[in-house]
Amino acid sequence: MEETLKAVYDEVSKCNRCGFCQAHCPIFDITGDERNVARGHNVHVRKLAEGSLQMGEDFKDPLFECLLCKACVANCFPAVRTDKSVIAGRAEYLKRMGQPKIMHFLFHRLLPEPERLSFYVRLAAWGKNYGVAKLARAMGILSWFRKDLDKAEGIVEKLPTSFFRERVGRRKTHSKKGAPRVAYFVGCGFNFVLPQVSEATTEVLDKAGAEVQIADNCCCGLPAYGYGDLEAARKMAAKNLETLEKMNADAVVTECGSCSAFLKDYPELFEDDPSKREIARRLAPKVLGFSEFMQSRFAGSFPVKNLSARVTYHDPCHMSRYQKVIQEPRALLKRVPGLNYLELPEADRCCGAAGSYNLMHYEQSMKVLDRKVEMVKKMGADILTTECPGCIIQLRYGVRRAGLGTRVAHLSELFREMI
Ligand code: SF4
Ligand code: SF4
Repeated sequence: MEETLKAVYDEVSKCNRCGFCQAHCPIFDITGDERNVARGHNVHVRKLAEGSLQMGEDFKDPLFECLLCKACVANCFPAVRTDKSVIAGRAEYLKRMGQPKIMHFLFHRLLPEPERLSFYVRLAAWGKNYGVAKLARAMGILSWFRKDLDKAEGIVEKLPTSFFRERVGRRKTHSKKGAPRVAYFVGCGFNFVLPQVSEATTEVLDKAGAEVQIADNCCCGLPAYGYGDLEAARKMAAKNLETLEKMNADAVVTECGSCSAFLKDYPELFEDDPSKREIARRLAPKVLGFSEFMQSRFAGSFPVKNLSARVTYHDPCHMSRYQKVIQEPRALLKRVPGLNYLELPEADRCCGAAGSYNLMHYEQSMKVLDRKVEMVKKMGADILTTECPGCIIQLRYGVRRAGLGTRVAHLSELFREMI
C-alpha cells in the first residue's frame, strides 16, 4: 500500500457509511452525486488503498471538487477526517498521474519565494487592467487551468498597485515595556490583494498595546497542501518555521484564518521529521488568529468608540471548524458600544471560496455562494465581517452580484475605525 494512503487507511475504514454527512455537504447539496460526499470520498480512497479501484478521471473530478470545508467531519458520529482522506487521494493522484507544469511552478518556484511571487502578481495586476482572461487566453494559459477561470475574472474586483510589504517595509512598532511581542505573519491574500486589511491589523495590534514585528515569511503552504502537493507544502512550512523560530516572539498573529489554521497544523506535516516536528510543536501554541489574540490578550483593555450599526459575522471554515475559534470574534464585536450584533443563519456554512476553488470551479462555487448571500439578504445586516481573505473577496462578489448594500469587512478593518 502507498505510504500516503496507508496513513489514512485506518481513518477511512472508520466510515460506517451511515450517510449522515449528505445533509451537511454543500457540494452534495448542489450535485446530488454520491461521489461528491464524504461517504463517497472515503469509499474511493479505501478502495484505492486496497488496490481495487483504478486511478482515472472518474476519481479525480469528485476528489478535486471537495471544498475541504469539514462540514462532514463536524457532523460525522465517528468523526472521520474526510479532509485528510481527500488530501491523501489528491496527493496519490498527483503522484501517479503527474502535476500540470504551471501548478508545479506555482507551488515550488513562486509561493516559497515572496519576491519572485511579487513580480508575477504585479504582472497579473497589470494583466487585469486588460482583462486577465483575455490575456490568459492569448497566452494559452486557460487550457492549463480550467475554462472556468474565464468566467471567474470578475470575482476579484481590482488588484492593488502596491502590496502590503512594500508599504510598510520591515517596520517594527516602537518597543513597549511589558507588551506582548507579536510576529505578524503576512498572508499572501492580504499582502497582494487586500493590503489595507494588513495595514488595519498591524495598526490595531499596535494601538491595542502589542509590539509588532512583520515576519519575513513566505506562503504558509496551505494552497499546495490543499492541492495534494505535500512536498511543496513541507518546503514552505520548513522555511517559515526557521523564520518564526528566529523571531522568538511571544505570539505569532495573522488575520488570515487559513494561515493560522495551517500554521497550527505544521506538526502534522512533519510526522517523519522529528526535529522539525519539535520546532512546529513549540510554535503551534503561539499561533493566534486576530480575534483570538485580541480576546485572549486584550479583553476589555482598550477603549472602543461607539458604532451604531447592525453587524454580523461569517465563520471561515478554517476558523470555526479547523481551529474551533467561534466565540472570540463574536465576543470582540459585542464589546463595541452601540453595535447591534445579529447572528447570521448558517454562519459556519462555507461561502464557496475555498482557496482558489471559486476560480477553478466557478459554477459550483457560485451556487454555494448564492445560499450564503440569501442568508445575508434575509437578515439585512449593514456590515458583514469575517476573518479570511478568500471569504472577503467571495462575499464582496456575492453582495455585488445581488445588488446589496452590505459592507463586507475584516474585523480588523472595523476595529481600526473604532480604536
Ligand atoms: S463520513 Fe461519517 S457521516 Fe459520512 S457516511 Fe461515513 S461515518 Fe457516516
Ligand atoms: S469537506 Fe465539505 S465539500 Fe468536502 S465532502 Fe466534506 S462537507 Fe462535502
